[in-house]
Amino acid sequence: MIRHALNNHRSKDFASWYQELISAADLAEESGVRGCMIMRPWGYGIWERMQALLDREIKATGHENCYFPLFIPLSYFEKEAEHVDGFAKEMAVVTHHRLTKGEKGLIVDPDAKLEEPLVVRPTSETVIGTAFSRWLQSWRDLPLLYNQWANVVRWEMRTRMFLRTSEFLWQEGHTAHETREDAVEETMKMLEVYRSFAEDKLAMPVIAGVKPENERFPGAEDTYSIEAMMQDGKALQAGTSHFLGHTFAKAQNIRFQDRNGDYQYAYTTSWGVSTRMIGGVIMSHGDDDGLRLPPAIAPQQIIIIPMLKENDGDEQLLNYCKKLKSEVQNISVLGEPVRVLLDVKATKPSQKRWSWVKKGAPIIIEVGARDMDAGKVSFLIRHQLYQENGKPNFHIMGVNEFADNAGKILEDMQASLFNEAKHRTQENIIENVENFNDVKKYYANAGKYPGWVKVNWARPTGAELEEIVKLLKSEKLTFRNSPIEDGAISGRCIFTGRDAVESIYIARAY
Ligand code: AMP
Repeated sequence: MIRHALNNHRSKDFASWYQELISAADLAEESGVRGCMIMRPWGYGIWERMQALLDREIKATGHENCYFPLFIPLSYFEKEAEHVDGFAKEMAVVTHHRLTKGEKGLIVDPDAKLEEPLVVRPTSETVIGTAFSRWLQSWRDLPLLYNQWANVVRWEMRTRMFLRTSEFLWQEGHTAHETREDAVEETMKMLEVYRSFAEDKLAMPVIAGVKPENERFPGAEDTYSIEAMMQDGKALQAGTSHFLGHTFAKAQNIRFQDRNGDYQYAYTTSWGVSTRMIGGVIMSHGDDDGLRLPPAIAPQQIIIIPMLKENDGDEQLLNYCKKLKSEVQNISVLGEPVRVLLDVKATKPSQKRWSWVKKGAPIIIEVGARDMDAGKVSFLIRHQLYQENGKPNFHIMGVNEFADNAGKILEDMQASLFNEAKHRTQENIIENVENFNDVKKYYANAGKYPGWVKVNWARPTGAELEEIVKLLKSEKLTFRNSPIEDGAISGRCIFTGRDAVESIYIARAY
C-alpha cells in the first residue's frame, strides 16, 4: 500500500485534506484576523502566474488597467438601492482617522470622527461609475474599457482559505457602451475569456452559463458565471460577468451625447475573478500527496535537486546541476520560456523531494553522483508519481534527451490534468430527471460526494422562484447556471410543469 504524503485523504475527509494541503504546500496561512490570510511565496507565485496570463487576455481584448482608491464615500452607495442592499451586510467602514492614549492603552480618538464614513471597497462599480460620468461626453468616447487589479473586502461570516475570504485579491473589469447589444457582447466576450482561461491555463473544465434571478449580482440585469465541479462533487463559482443595463448609469449619471445630439445613458458591464481560483485548482487537481499544478500556472516547472552529501564531491555535483539548468533553460513550454529552479538549500534531499511533491511542482529531478558520472538525470513526473508496485516512478534520461523531451512532458501534463477533470465532471452529471422527487432521490442515494443534476425549467422569477429556491435549500442544494451551450430546449419544467425554455444545473456548492 502507498503511504501518501498527506495524512488526510480526499475520500475520507475532503475539508481536512484541503486545509492540510494548503499548509503542506506552503500556499497560505491564517493571519490572526478572521477571514484574512497570508499568502506565502508559492501560493502568491501561483496568483502571479494567473495574473500574468489573464492580464494578457484582458489587454488583448482592448482593455486598459487603471487604479481607483480603496475607500469609497458612503454616499456613493446610497444612489443605488439594490446594490447597497446586496452589500450592506458585509461592508467594512472607516469612521475615524486617529488613535489617542486612553487609560488602558490606545483607543480610537472620539474627536477624530470623519465627516462622512468611508467604505472599504467590496467592489468598485460606484466609484468607477462616478469617474465614468466625468470622462464620458460623446458617443465618440465609447466604449470605455477598464480593468483594475486590487484587493477588496467583504465581511464574510463563513470563511475558508482562498474560497471565501474577507479580504481577497481580484481583477474587476468595468466598461461602458453606446448600445445594449455592445454591452451584452462585452459581457459574453469576457465570460468566454474566463472560460478559456479556466480550461486552457488552469486545466479546470467549467460550465459557462447565465445565473437565475436569485443569484444575480446586486444591480445587474443579468449575471453570467463559470462553474467548476470539484473532486467532492461540489460546484465552485469561479468567475462572473455582469450585464448591468442602465442601473449604474442612472445612479451615477453616466450619460453621453448620441449621434443625433441627444443625451443617452450608457450601458455598463463589470466582471471579475479572484484568488478563489487557487482554491479551484487545489480541489480540481490536488491528490493525497498534495497539489498537482498545471504547468501553465506553476511558479517553477522543473526543480533540480542535487543529492548533496556535505563532502568534497558536492562542488562537482553542483557544477553539473548548474550546467544541466542552463541546458534545460532554453526550452520553451506552452509558448513561454521554461521556469527551472535549482534547489541548493541545505535540507536533506529526500525531504526536499517530498516538499516539492506536496507543492505540486510538475517535474522534480534528483541528481546524484551516479547520474553525474553517467551524464543522466532521474526525475519524477508529478501526475504519474508511483509505479504499480507503489514505489516512486523515477524516469531516467540522458541530459540531451531530457532537454528534448521536457517541453512535451509538461504540455502532456497540462492536457492530461484537464482531461482527467473533464472526464470526472462528465461522469458526475445526471440528466433526464422528471421531477424534483427524482432530484431528491439522487442526492439521498448518491453517497458522500454527489455530483450535479441538470434539469429543464421555465426560468421562473419572483415569488415563484423564491418558493423553488426554498425547496432546494431544504435539501442543501443551489442553482448554478443555465449552460449557454445548451441553448433553447424543448421539454417540461420540472418545477412548474410549463414548457421549459432552458436547462439549469443543480448542485451542492462552495
Ligand atoms: P462578484 O463581484 O460578486 O461577482 O464576484 C466576482 C468573483 O469574485 C466571484 O465570481 C468569485 O469568484 C469571487 N469572489 C466573490 N466573493 C469572494 C470571496 N469572499 N472570496 C474570494 N473570492 C470571492
